[in-house]
Amino acid sequence: MNDETRCRVCGGNQATLCDTTDHGNQEHWLCERCGKFMVPGLESKTALSRLTDEQLVKLSGWVFERNREGSVPEVSKEVVGRVVNRPLPPLSERLDRLLLEAVRGHKRFGQQLHFKARHFLATTYSLEVNELNWLVDALVDQGLVKVVTTSNTKEITPDGYRKIDELRRRTKPSSKAFVAMSFDKGMHDVFIKGLQKGIEDAGYDGVRVDKTEHIDRIDDQIIALIRESAFIVADFTGHRGGVYFEAGFALGLGLPVIWTCRKSDMKDLHFDIRQYNTIDWTGPKDLAERLQHRIEATLGKGPYASLASEP
Ligand SMILES: [Zn+2]
Repeated sequence: MNDETRCRVCGGNQATLCDTTDHGNQEHWLCERCGKFMVPGLESKTALSRLTDEQLVKLSGWVFERNREGSVPEVSKEVVGRVVNRPLPPLSERLDRLLLEAVRGHKRFGQQLHFKARHFLATTYSLEVNELNWLVDALVDQGLVKVVTTSNTKEITPDGYRKIDELRRRTKPSSKAFVAMSFDKGMHDVFIKGLQKGIEDAGYDGVRVDKTEHIDRIDDQIIALIRESAFIVADFTGHRGGVYFEAGFALGLGLPVIWTCRKSDMKDLHFDIRQYNTIDWTGPKDLAERLQHRIEATLGKGPYASLASEP
């Protein structure tokens, strides 16, 4: 395929349409700025074509963050609507992201820094290269990055490495919710219009790892993602073994677990979890509404709540 080059999210021309499925309706993209993402159909394409510059910056940053967490997000019409109504991250957060991204993969102190890669625009929510350069200069002004005058290259200062240590240690209140669920094709709408919508309407980010090799086993990536989450939502429809593992692991960490299951599957629920107050949903809409209320009652509204509730 490889014929399209303008990214549906950021509009940049370093993108590849890798594949289409569902009779050409679903597009699978790889963008040098945004990363990998999926556009599920005509409605989402229309929503994407109407974005302002500031909105596409938010969406590109959101897609990139999901990639860094190991998931390939679906950029549905609903997701577009929610993400573009969020506020831009504040300057301090954008500088922190830039600093952490700059040393990603570095093996030793004093390695040369490169900021040319397009994904730096995404991670810093920058509209264009000038804005990114301004942020890099701000790190220099703060003494976290220095210019090596002999070679005109940049590297992290000792203060910069101290800051990086602090950022990596910091346990920020998380906006993330890990979703444990069946990967059955029939569950697709349940995730987008039910689980993810309910989580995002409550003001959090619903994240799932959707690679088939993760079925029924829990690996390092899933463990890392659960550790970073504020809570997890475990949907037992289809009774996938991995969901029981992931819910158990989260409980062991002391994280709140919200239990959901399609009403018709409730009778097969494993005995051990029947004690929990499970949301027995009938369809995605019912699930989204009840899940939002349960999350707000359990944890309070998340950081994106005020804007997510706007039309
Ligand atoms: Zn892009």
